[in-house]
Amino acid sequence: MSETKIRTVLGDIDAALLGRTDAHEHVFLSSPMLTGDEFQDVDKAILELRMVKQSGIDALVDLTTIGLGRKPAALAAVSRDTGVHIVAATGYHRDAHYRADHWIYTATRDQLLDAVITDIQTGMDASDWATPFRETTSARAGIIKAGASYQRITGTEQLRLEVCAEAAVRTGVPLAVHTEVGTAADSILDVVESVGLPASRVLLAHLDRNPDADLHEQLIQRGATLVYDTVGRIKYRPDSQLLDLCAELVERGHASHLTLGTDVGRRGMLKAYGGGPGMDVLGRSFVPRLQQLIGADCVSTLLVDTPRRFLSIEGARQ
Ligand SMILES: [Zn+2]
Repeated sequence: MSETKIRTVLGDIDAALLGRTDAHEHVFLSSPMLTGDEFQDVDKAILELRMVKQSGIDALVDLTTIGLGRKPAALAAVSRDTGVHIVAATGYHRDAHYRADHWIYTATRDQLLDAVITDIQTGMDASDWATPFRETTSARAGIIKAGASYQRITGTEQLRLEVCAEAAVRTGVPLAVHTEVGTAADSILDVVESVGLPASRVLLAHLDRNPDADLHEQLIQRGATLVYDTVGRIKYRPDSQLLDLCAELVERGHASHLTLGTDVGRRGMLKAYGGGPGMDVLGRSFVPRLQQLIGADCVSTLLVDTPRRFLSIEGARQ
């Protein structure tokens, strides 16, 4: 029997080697929604990831999608330099992140699907523009990301969500979906199941913005995995509330479907740019507090076992 593999930007690795994982991160990002707050500097990314490594985190899931400044070749360089495993994303974010004249709105379903599958099987597009001006790098994507709006999935988001779910079925890599303030999660699972992707292959992001333990339990009972990814985002609520929510879900027996991330999405949140709390806030500050609350073994389930299971490429397909 072959080992379970996880696809990183430096190649496929034995899943057992992934280590402690921040399951929602952005090494580089540039979006029309974040004008003036983009981060694209390679040296600063190396500085930030060195701090992440020092905080005890071994791997990041980079959920920057097509068209939002992924910089695939630089991701590989940053991973090589810092020793942090990076699982990079392909796929498409929610409508708000693309200008009205972006090619994703005029591309056919087959073109959208082809760009995602090529990113996974051959290598990510360097220009981030994809078809037809593709410049393929050697760094392959190991996860797909889609996105939905607040309380609803627009028509164009649904098309791209279906495409992303179909690509997950065909390639065996998992699907992460951005929820806006933790809403519309059940509708998202309905759409992905309608194209044949089981909820067990879906990671729902930002559910902690909607800190409703009963809802989270229902989504997990449908098979989904959740990432609580607003660690250190004090403007939303104090970390103490997020710690209590983690403890509640673990108490209910759901540690194997729960994982953690910081989702640094703005330049002003990065120490390398003079901001805060820094991408290392998870390992440096949150993890020690969570260990006090639920014990080191449970934290290890959230940081190591859940990401390892979820990120593993399914079956022989790839
Ligand atoms: Zn994000």
